[in-house]
Amino acid sequence: MSTAQPQRCGLVAIVGRPNVGKSTLLNALVGQKVSITSRKAQTTRHRITGVRTEGDTQFVFVDTPGFQTRHGSALHRTLNRTVVASLVDVDVVLFVVEAGRFGLEDAKVLALLQGGAMQGKPVLLVANKVDAVHRRSELLPWLKSMGERADFAEFVPLSAKKPADVERLLGIVRPYLPAQPWFYDPEHLTDRSERFLASEIVREKLFRLTGDELPYASTVLIDRFEEDGALRRIAATIVVERDAHKAMVIGEGGERIKRIGTEARHDLERLLDAKVHIELWVKVRSGWADSEEHLRSYGYE
Ligand code: GDP
Repeated sequence: MSTAQPQRCGLVAIVGRPNVGKSTLLNALVGQKVSITSRKAQTTRHRITGVRTEGDTQFVFVDTPGFQTRHGSALHRTLNRTVVASLVDVDVVLFVVEAGRFGLEDAKVLALLQGGAMQGKPVLLVANKVDAVHRRSELLPWLKSMGERADFAEFVPLSAKKPADVERLLGIVRPYLPAQPWFYDPEHLTDRSERFLASEIVREKLFRLTGDELPYASTVLIDRFEEDGALRRIAATIVVERDAHKAMVIGEGGERIKRIGTEARHDLERLLDAKVHIELWVKVRSGWADSEEHLRSYGYE
C-alpha cells in the first residue's frame, strides 16, 4: 500500500429494477468473489457486495436495504423512509437501466432515489446492454430524454459483459469518491481460495465473540472442505493453547461455539453464494504456537 499517494475510497451503490444487469455489472466490477473479513464502522448500514482496488482508488460496492442487487426485491416490499435514509452515506449511486428502455419499474426506483435522501449525491445513469440495441441512432435521443427526467451526473452507455466498458466505468466513478484512506487492506481482498476464506471467517467470528479473552495465538484449521453441488460442507478445528481457552470458546452449554458457527455460516453463504454446512471442533494443543513444525503445517511459514 503506497502512502505517498493520497488515497481515494468510497461507497458505491448499484440500484435498478430486477433484470437490468446489476449482478452482472457488480461481478465484472469486482472481478472476483468477495472476500471481506472485517467490517468497518462506515459500512455497518450496508451489506458489502464487493471491493475493487485500482491504482489509488478503492471502490466499495454495497447493497442497500430495499435495493437488493441480487434479489431485486425493491419493488416487492414496502418502501419506507429508512430505505431511503440508508442511501445517505453512499458516495455515488449507479442507477442501472437497460439502454433504450425506461419503464414503470425503472421510474419507481428513480422516484425513490429522488425522494430526498439522494439530494446532492451524484447519480450516474448506467445504460446497460447497449450491445442489444440494434438502432444505435436511437440511443442519443433516448439519453437526452433520460437527462430530462433527472439531474444525472453522468450518462454511461455500456455493456456489463464487455471488460473495456467496465474499466471505463471505474474511471468515471473515481472522481466522485472522496480522498480518504482505503477501508480495506487490498492484501486481504485478493483472490483467495474458498477454503482460506472459510478459515478467515471462522477466525473473525472466534475473536469477535470471545473479545479480548482469547490469546491471539489461537487458530482455525479447515479439516474438510467439500463441494457438493450448491452445498459446501466444512469441518474446522479451533486450536487453542489451554483447557481454559477451550471452555471459553465453547461457552456455557456450547452457546458460544454454536454462535460462532451460525454467524460464520451466514457470512460464508453470502460470500460463497452457496449453502453452507459447518461443523466446528475445539482442540487444545499446548505450546503449538512455539513449534516450528506445527506452524509449517498450518501454513504460517
Ligand atoms: P439483475 O437482476 O439486475 O442483477 O440482472 P442480472 O445481472 O441478473 O442480469 C439479467 C440478465 O441480463 C442476465 O441474463 C444477463 O446475462 C443479462 N445481461 C447483463 N448484462 C448484459 C449486457 O451487457 N448485455 C446483454 N446482452 N445482456 C446482459
